[in-house]
Amino acid sequence: MSAVALQADIAAGAAQVRERIERACVRAGRDPASVTLVAVSKGHPAEAIRAGYEAGLRHFGENRIQEAIPRIEESVASGVEAAWHLVGHLQSNKAKAAAGAFDLIHSIDSARLLARLDAAAPAPRDVLLQVNIAAEPQKQGVAPDDLGALVEAAREARNLRLRGLMTIAPIASDAEDVRPVFRALRELAERHELPELSMGMTDDFEVAIEEGATLVRVGRAIFGERTP
Ligand SMILES: *Cc1c(COP(=O)(O)O)cnc(C)c1O
Repeated sequence: MSAVALQADIAAGAAQVRERIERACVRAGRDPASVTLVAVSKGHPAEAIRAGYEAGLRHFGENRIQEAIPRIEESVASGVEAAWHLVGHLQSNKAKAAAGAFDLIHSIDSARLLARLDAAAPAPRDVLLQVNIAAEPQKQGVAPDDLGALVEAAREARNLRLRGLMTIAPIASDAEDVRPVFRALRELAERHELPELSMGMTDDFEVAIEEGATLVRVGRAIFGERTP
């Protein structure tokens, strides 16, 4: 695809997603400014990020450190000034690299990872704890029953600021089916008095907004399908 066509496609995708966010906010009686759109650029080149930036996107999400770091460096060098989010699973041995590259890490799911990140963070870092609400065995995330202990550990960390919770809903043919998952995450966040809720992707972000999402992580609806 030519650079001009790529720019136009991504600008149209971003505009459509913004419009859908606004409509979901109207339905839910929420201020659209209370929802941050994190454009998940994984699997796409730095040119796509640059195009998204030109279309007004200011938050980008990546899921793999090794792929993300060169792409972030290339983007920054080309003038992209954005907040970078790590939305994918993080291994403890990559904590240092992650702490240096990302503004918000969405995927803390163990005390071990928390400790490694706390020790490695060059400056106070905002983090979210990932919860496996639906208890899917193949998914990362702390079990809801173990969340309390992890919240306490995160609050004791010197160099991390616990901001909220994140979840990935199960794949469903109807987004309504995952509403209880989002509601459960919101209830957990309320119980622990945490302000941020990272939930909702291309197939279900509107339902997530209706249930209180403050960060939606949207890839395909902005950048198109990923080639695996
Ligand atoms: C890929 C990914 C997304 C975006 O998914 P889309 O379906 O493309 O919107 C969001 N969150 C996480 C954790 C992801 O890995």
